Amino acid sequence: MKKERLDKVLANLGYGSRKEIKSLAKTGIIKIDGEIVKDSSHKFDPESSVIEVGEEVVRYRKYIYLMMNKPDGYISSTEDCMHETVLDLLEPEDRVFEPFPLGRLDKDTEGLLVLSNDGQLAHRILSPKKHVKKGYYAEVEGVVTEEDIEDFAEGVELEDGYITMPAKLKILESGEISKIELEIYEGKYHQVKRMFESVGKRVVYLKRIYMGGLALDESLELGEYRELTDEEVELLE
Ligand code: URA
Repeated sequence: MKKERLDKVLANLGYGSRKEIKSLAKTGIIKIDGEIVKDSSHKFDPESSVIEVGEEVVRYRKYIYLMMNKPDGYISSTEDCMHETVLDLLEPEDRVFEPFPLGRLDKDTEGLLVLSNDGQLAHRILSPKKHVKKGYYAEVEGVVTEEDIEDFAEGVELEDGYITMPAKLKILESGEISKIELEIYEGKYHQVKRMFESVGKRVVYLKRIYMGGLALDESLELGEYRELTDEEVELLE
């Protein structure tokens, strides 16, 4: 049970700035457990209290979990001085929770990106010891072969000498531009692109299609996002 200030709780839920909430409280419109609270610095436990603003019962929550279909051209970080970040795609009422991407996708990579403000979940799923699986669809310049499947299954040596963990490569279509799916269990910088470079091929399109047991909701257009259900959050681990 952790007590928090009324103005902080409501500001985090998108009810305005602390100053605005101070004025709002003064009007006597806010109730906590049925009692009018006019002092916005009032401390209480938001998890076990009923908060009302006028006729509206406030849905309190600490954490937000979002699934985005990341488009090309956005950086998966919380700020960047040159380019737009995935946070620019969020509605203000979601941004107030200060979510951050759980793991990175390159600027030109599309597909599944989970954003949350749950630091503990982030720590659990991003821990290198955890080996959460990640699935990618890619289009690759050059003919992807059975030998590549074997090499990836054994681990390939990247240009910096790192040997990748065994990965599962599936060829969907082989040709001038091959279509493949790749499942990896680690997340080194530019990993998929560098794995293909190590076998002399170039990734020309990359999309993440799942993370842990959570698959991208294909009904999301590029740049769209939605909240995850509790069950979907559990699938991440
Ligand atoms: N591997 C890459 O090369 N890029 C990504 O964005 C994700 C995995």
